[in-house]
Order: sequence, then C-alpha cells, then structure tokens
Amino acid sequence: MAIHSAKTTDQIKNRCDLVELIGEYLRLEKKGNNYVALCPFHQEKTPSFSVSPDKQLYYCFGCGEGGDHFKFVMKMENLTFPDAMELLARKTGVTLPDKNNNKTKESITEKLFELNDLAMRYFHYVLQSTKEGQKARDYLKNRGFTLSSIEEFKLGFAPSEWDAFLEVANKKGYSRELMLKGGLIASRSDGRGHYDRFRNRLMFPIMDLRGRVVGFGGRVLQEAPGTPKYLNSPETPLFDKGRYLYGIYQAKDALRQQREALIVEGYTDVIALYQGGVRNVVATLGTALTPMQAKQLRQQVEKAIMAFDADDGGRSATLRGLNILINSGLKIKVAEIPQGKDPDTVLKEIGAKAFQELIGKALPFLDYQIKQLKEKYHLDTAEGKNQFGREFLVLLNNFAGDLEKEHYIKQVAEELAISEEVLRLELKKIRDKKRSSEKKSNNLNINGKNNIIREHVFNPAEEFLLKLLLCYEGVFERIDELERTSRKDGLQFFSKEMQKIIEACRILRENGENVRVASLLNCIDEEELIQNYLTRAAFAAQQWGELSEEEVRKMTDDCIRKVKKTSLKNRRSNIEAEIKKREQSGDSQKVKELLYEWEKLNLAERELGLEKEGWTW
Ligand SMILES: [Zn+2]
Repeated sequence: MAIHSAKTTDQIKNRCDLVELIGEYLRLEKKGNNYVALCPFHQEKTPSFSVSPDKQLYYCFGCGEGGDHFKFVMKMENLTFPDAMELLARKTGVTLPDKNNNKTKESITEKLFELNDLAMRYFHYVLQSTKEGQKARDYLKNRGFTLSSIEEFKLGFAPSEWDAFLEVANKKGYSRELMLKGGLIASRSDGRGHYDRFRNRLMFPIMDLRGRVVGFGGRVLQEAPGTPKYLNSPETPLFDKGRYLYGIYQAKDALRQQREALIVEGYTDVIALYQGGVRNVVATLGTALTPMQAKQLRQQVEKAIMAFDADDGGRSATLRGLNILINSGLKIKVAEIPQGKDPDTVLKEIGAKAFQELIGKALPFLDYQIKQLKEKYHLDTAEGKNQFGREFLVLLNNFAGDLEKEHYIKQVAEELAISEEVLRLELKKIRDKKRSSEKKSNNLNINGKNNIIREHVFNPAEEFLLKLLLCYEGVFERIDELERTSRKDGLQFFSKEMQKIIEACRILRENGENVRVASLLNCIDEEELIQNYLTRAAFAAQQWGELSEEEVRKMTDDCIRKVKKTSLKNRRSNIEAEIKKREQSGDSQKVKELLYEWEKLNLAERELGLEKEGWTW
C-alpha cells in the first residue's frame, strides 16, 4: 500500500478540474449535478459514464470503472501511477518532491512525445524558413493552402538528405535507439548505420485528441515510380494506424458543437475542407475505418457523414467503414461525391456553400445502400429482383429498427411490385436463420467476456456501510471497533476489500487526516477494483439528501447487524459443508472441533436475531 504525499496529489487536483480533464478526451453533457459521456472503457450506445464536479470523481454505471484524476489518466493513456502523476504534474505546473530522481527514469512514452514534437517543429521550420522548403511551399500554394492552414495543421517538409533529422535529434541528445523506436529513422539494410525514414516529403503530423503528435504521414511532391505516394510512421509505442483519425484535434470543438463528423479519405481533403469552413472533418489514415476509430468518434459526435471518392475504391472503403460505424451506435449518412473526384476538388469547383449543401443532401445509410443495390441488379428481370430482394432483406435485418423495416418494405414493395407479405415472410426467415446461428456461436464462447459488469465484491449491507462511512463523521469509529473486536474473537465480518479500506482509513487517521474518498483513493492506488467500489459508493451516496445524526446512527446499526448476520451465516454454511466432508472421511476429532465452532456461530447468530430489527432497505 503506497502512500503518496497527499499534499502533492491534492495540489494537482486543485489546479485541474476533473470535468475539464475528462472533457479533453470525451464529449461531456451536463445531466443534473453531474456530467455524462459514453464510457471509454466499455462499448455502449447510451451514456452511463458519470463525472461529479462536486466530488471530482468519475464512475461508470455500465462497467463499474471509477476513480479520480490519476486513475482516469492511467486507464486512458495506459500509464503507471507515477507516470500519470508526472503527466498531471507537468500539466498543472506542480513540482513533484523527488523530481530529480524521477527525471532519469522518465517514461519512454514521454520521451517519444518529446521527440515527435521536435520532429514536427523541425519539419515545420524547414518548410517555412529554408531554401529547400521552397518547392514544398510552392506545391502547397498551387494547391491553394493558406499559411494559416499550414500553421494550424503544423505541416512540414522533410529535406532530401539521408540524415538531416537524425543529426538534429542527435545534437539535442536523443539516442538512435529512441529515434528507431519512434519510427523516425530506419536501419540500413547492410546493418551499417541509420537513415531518416522521411525524406523529400511533405509532412503531416498526426495528432491525438489532445494535440500531441503520435506519428507522421509523408507525401511525395512529385509522384515517381517505385516511391509510395504516402508513407506513414510505422507502428510505434505511440502510433497505431487503426487508432487515430487525422484532423481530430483541429476538429474537436466543431465536432462537439455540431455533434456530427464528416469523414473523408485524405490528409489534404481534411485541410482543404477545414480551410473552406467545414471544420468538423476527419480522415482515416489510409485504411478502412476501424472499430477503435469509430468508438473514438462516437465519444465526440452522434452522427457521421461519409464523403468518399465516388470511384470504386472509395466506394468499397465507404461500405466497409459503414458497418463499423453503425455498430458503434453512430447515425450514418453517405454523401455522394461526383464520380472520379475527391472532396477537395469538388469543394474548389463548386465553392464552400454549395459543398455544404451537397453534404446536407447526404443520404441516410439504408437509403444509400438500397440505391447501390438497385444500380447493381437488373430489376426488370425476375432473377435481378430476386437477387436484389435477398440482399435488401439481409440489409434490413442487420441494420434497420422495426419502424424502418416497415418503411423500407412498403417502399420497395411498391417500387418493384412485390407483395409486402412476401417480403415480410422472407425477412422472418432470414432473421430466424441468423438468430439460430448466433445462438450456436454464443454457446461456443459461453466463457467469453459477455457480462461487462464485474461481479460485486461487497454484499449490499457492507456497501451501504461504506457509503455511510464516506459521508458521515463517527461511522468510521463504529466500523473500526467492530473490525478490531471481531478479529480478536477470531471472526472476520468484513470482506478482504473492506478490510483494506478500513486499513487505509486508519492510516489516514494516524496522519491526522479526515476520511475522504480522494485521500482513500491515494492510499490504495494499486487496488483497481477497490477504487472502483469506493467511487461507486461515493456516487450512490450522492443521491441521498442530508441525513440527521439519528438517522445515520440507526442506519449504521442496521448495516452492522446485517453485515454480521451475513458473515455468520456464510461461515456457518461453510462449516456445515466441511463437517459433511470430514464425517465421510471419518475424521472425528476434526468434526468435534467444527461442531463446537458451529455451535458458537449459531449462538452468536441467535443473539443477533434477538436484537430488534430496525430500519430496512
Ligand atoms: Zn463503462
């Protein structure tokens, strides 16, 4: 059990509002006294993730994840407690007590962020201020990119030398090992030395939601055979193509305001549209949309419009992405960009206003799909109708709600002169077939992680007692006393988790501190599950009004009695089982001992039963 200087953690928390901190990652919405968002720790379609500004705690009623600033950053950024502490200290300008010792073991993640930042600034400088950057400046000017766009997206240019960046980073004291790890240099194939990965390329820094550079995309100025047009950072500890969306940092405010995202395919599309006033625009990084990207978007917006090139490649990418977006709970529309053009070109041709109108006319996902299907088959032949009908119904079954099903069945029946009844009957067949195959696959992975909500550690009375403990003075003394005496009698009424919480309370008391959730969380920073339960209790207690001293006393009494009772009962049934086992193996001495203990428990239970049952819940 680590104790951190409560002063430092408090200082950090005081300087950084939890609502603001979480707001950097998630779109929060005010609801009553709290803020809610879609939980980043489990998949969900309606928000059950709550943040309390008063308590400065978060808790998810869907998956049971909860905690404070530190826990959130740890989970979100996949950091250890010291690293989360370091990150938040830097953010808030709080000096950590043993900073000098920490400096040497600064995490690799932080160093890579620093290195990426250096690379971004270097490439940006080359583009803006050097002779070598001239051709890139010309290129950008020809494509109509303004200086403020170049600034906003921190575009850059990587010189054509083999080791320009390597030398710069070397002078700044970064090791080659780190540069390799960050994907900025590569090893020569003969094993002798290294060279810059990005050379003679226009550089697009790829940022996370918080504006930190996670990787780069590099584009050649002139296409040449044998050289890929685009080159991305390889997979690094910071960069994963499937995780990030280009432009999400710049688009963040617009996304949250408009609650709608426009998804395009290329870096330059993003910049051109942003410059043209379409600010809620992001792009995938040259891959089909991944579930992780969809989830990230869903945390910011409710609707997404796909605007992909209308050529075949674009269309199939659109289709692949759509299913993923829909499964993430986003409402989807598809904007049809004229054949053979990309959004950037179209915007230039028709202007920003007309482009907005085009986006405004985007078709709902199902309409778009049905339109595609109609173009695919010859609907004037029986065979074509048949093929169309089959695919149409599979589509409905997978993606339509009941009302939508009715709507589209009526529409298609009329257009194709088929009876609605036949369509409904066929739809039912498809549904039944899908259900039975789903059942089969469910049975196969019955041990999978289906139930999101983790098993409750506490029994209800114990949890209630914990809530009282967190909210009212004097409750701890009662619990403390009970725990000490029960231990002396060789009984333990509390779960292991509760015992740890009681232990943490004692430590706080010994240090002259009050029992508060925030300080308790500090004491048990390595016990994730206990942290979850603490925050859960704190959140639940929030719903109470102020209780009178008398009410608190009575509730505490009741809880303690129930905790005792449950614990005695559990012990007794365990002993009964043990007795049976020993009897079978003929261990009469042990049976005698167990019977004696059983009698003791029985007596204790009866005594408890005589106490008057008071308030119940
Ligand atoms: Zn959750």
